[in-house]
Amino acid sequence: MAAHTTFKVGGPADLWVKPSLEDWQNGAAGILLEAAHRERIPVFVLGGGANLVVSDQGIRGIVLDMSGNSGLAHTSKGSQTLTFRAGSSVDEAVDEAARRDLGGLEFLAGMPGSIGGALWMNARCYDREMADVVSQVELLGAEGKLISLAPKKEEFSYKKSPFQTRDDLILNVSFALDKKDSLLIQKKMTEHRNDREAKGHYRFPSAGSAFKNNRAFGKPTGKIIDELGLKGFALGDAQVAPWHGNIIINRGKARAADIRALVTELQDRAKAALGIDLEPEILFTGDWP
Ligand SMILES: Cc1cc2nc3c(=O)[nH]c(=O)nc-3n(C[C@H](O)[C@H](O)[C@H](O)COP(=O)(O)OP(=O)(O)OC[C@H]3O[C@@H](n4cnc5c(N)ncnc54)[C@H](O)[C@@H]3O)c2cc1C
Repeated sequence: MAAHTTFKVGGPADLWVKPSLEDWQNGAAGILLEAAHRERIPVFVLGGGANLVVSDQGIRGIVLDMSGNSGLAHTSKGSQTLTFRAGSSVDEAVDEAARRDLGGLEFLAGMPGSIGGALWMNARCYDREMADVVSQVELLGAEGKLISLAPKKEEFSYKKSPFQTRDDLILNVSFALDKKDSLLIQKKMTEHRNDREAKGHYRFPSAGSAFKNNRAFGKPTGKIIDELGLKGFALGDAQVAPWHGNIIINRGKARAADIRALVTELQDRAKAALGIDLEPEILFTGDWP
C-alpha cells in the first residue's frame, strides 16, 4: 500500500482491485462489492490515500481503488452543476470547474486526494469545507443499491461527514457552482497552490495535518507542538516537520509503526505538559498489531 498512499508507508493488501471506468459503467465494480458483502470479505475504499497511515502488516480483505472512476460524469442546471466521479482527483475537478468559468471550488486547489475522499472527510481549508459546496451525492450500497441524496450542511461538522457512519461507497458528487470570471478563479487557485508550496506541503511524503485543531485549546495544534519544542522531533524516519508542528513527514524510510509511535509520543507529551488530548486527523487503517 506504500505505493498508493501519500505517506508512502503500508504493507500489502490481500487483494487490490482497481476497476476501470468501463467496469464502473457496466456494473462490474458493483457486482464485486455485492459478492464481497455476501462472502463477508471486508472492503476498504481507497481514494487518493492522502489521509492514511496503512499498517506495515497491510490490509486484510479487498482494497477497492477508486481512481478508475474519475472524470466529469455530467452537468445540469444550465451547466452550472457539475457532477464528478468520486475517484476524480481534487485538482482535476477544480481545474475543470475553472475551465468552465465556474467558481466555488477554488479553495480546494492543490489539496491532494480524491473528490470522494474529500467529501467523506469533509475536507476543509481556507475557511471553507466540502459541506459548503456539495449539492447531491450518489452512493452505492453494499448490496448494490444506488442511493441518491442531497446532504444538508447541518449533517456535517469539523472533519465529520454523514458518510462516516454509513457503509456506502461514494460514487458521484455534484457541486452547484456560480458563473465567475475565469481570471479571478485562476488567481485564487494559484494563490492557494503557492501558499501550500510555501508551507512545505509537497516537500516530503505526508498526509497533511497530523492532528485536528480544537478551539478549546486556544491556538492551532501546530503552534502547541511548536511551543513544546517538538518541531523536528523524530522517531526513526517519521519526523515532525522542522518547519511546521502539525505536519508529520516521512523523511525517507519511515515505517507506519514509526509514524504511529510518533503520534502517540506527541499525544503523551501534550497531555503531560498541558493536560490536553490531541486527536489525530490522519486515519490509521489496516491490520495493526
Ligand atoms: C500535502 C497534504 C496537504 C493536505 N491538506 C489538507 C487540507 O488542507 N485540508 C484537509 O482537510 N485535508 C488535507 N489533507 C488530507 C487529505 O488531502 C484529505 O483528507 C483528502 O480529502 C483525503 O482524500 P483521499 O481521496 O486521499 O482519501 P483517502 O485518504 O484515500 O481516504 C480517506 C477516507 O475516505 C474514505 N473514502 C475515500 N474515498 C471514498 C469513496 N469514494 N467512498 C467512500 N469512502 C471513501 C476512505 O475509505 C477513508 O476512510 C492534506 C494531505 C496532504 C498529503
